[in-house]
Amino acid sequence: MNLILMGLPGAGKGTQADKIVEKYEIPHISTGDMFRAAIKGGTELGLKAKSYMDAGNLVPDEVTVGIVRERLSEDDCKGGFLLDGFPRTVAQAEALEEILAELDRKLDHVVYIEVPEDDLFKRLTGRWICPTCGATYHEIFNPPNEAGKCDKDGSDLIQRDDDKPETVEKRLNVNLEQTKPLVNFYEDKGYLRRVDGKQDIQYVFEAVDTLLKGSNR
Ligand code: AMP
Repeated sequence: MNLILMGLPGAGKGTQADKIVEKYEIPHISTGDMFRAAIKGGTELGLKAKSYMDAGNLVPDEVTVGIVRERLSEDDCKGGFLLDGFPRTVAQAEALEEILAELDRKLDHVVYIEVPEDDLFKRLTGRWICPTCGATYHEIFNPPNEAGKCDKDGSDLIQRDDDKPETVEKRLNVNLEQTKPLVNFYEDKGYLRRVDGKQDIQYVFEAVDTLLKGSNR
């Protein structure tokens, strides 16, 4: 099963990725995770990627495509893979087609977990944290007993900069602009499979699973 998993921030991509790789026993290849591991390990790749990541920019294609080519050539990818966070641009998608052709492989599906932007905004801006004990809450999914106060120690809850409305809005817009051309690219190729991500985790997983089981190209 050769898959790409796509979804905007907050769509539940990470959660579904974990469930898919467990069930289908394929490696989870996240370029973001690979870059973060390289930075942590202080490798040459990490040094290259860090400045771009810190500035919130994409790492250049030559670097990113290179690591994906190497990774997909490893033995554990022979039975399939799940790509997460790659491709991010049409140029990367085209490079991936070439890599797969070199490896005599084909994509099976591009699964796009769709959640309306308003819902994503609510999901992403709803997180509140206790500055004293670190407990996390969510306005909708896990609210504290008293609004704005920690259940454990009564501290005033705070919001991380990343979760503030203006930051979230910018992040969503940037991602949406990146995602649209890729969705079109894969739709034209006939790979795109849309899944309704508004439902709960298990329901979404069953929808993904049904479509993965349903067709082998
Ligand atoms: P992520 O964890 O997928 O959000 O990725 C974190 C960061 O890693 C991104 O903001 C980019 O700087 C970099 N990155 C991850 N995947 C890619 C990619 N496919 N192309 C370019 N940069 C990437």
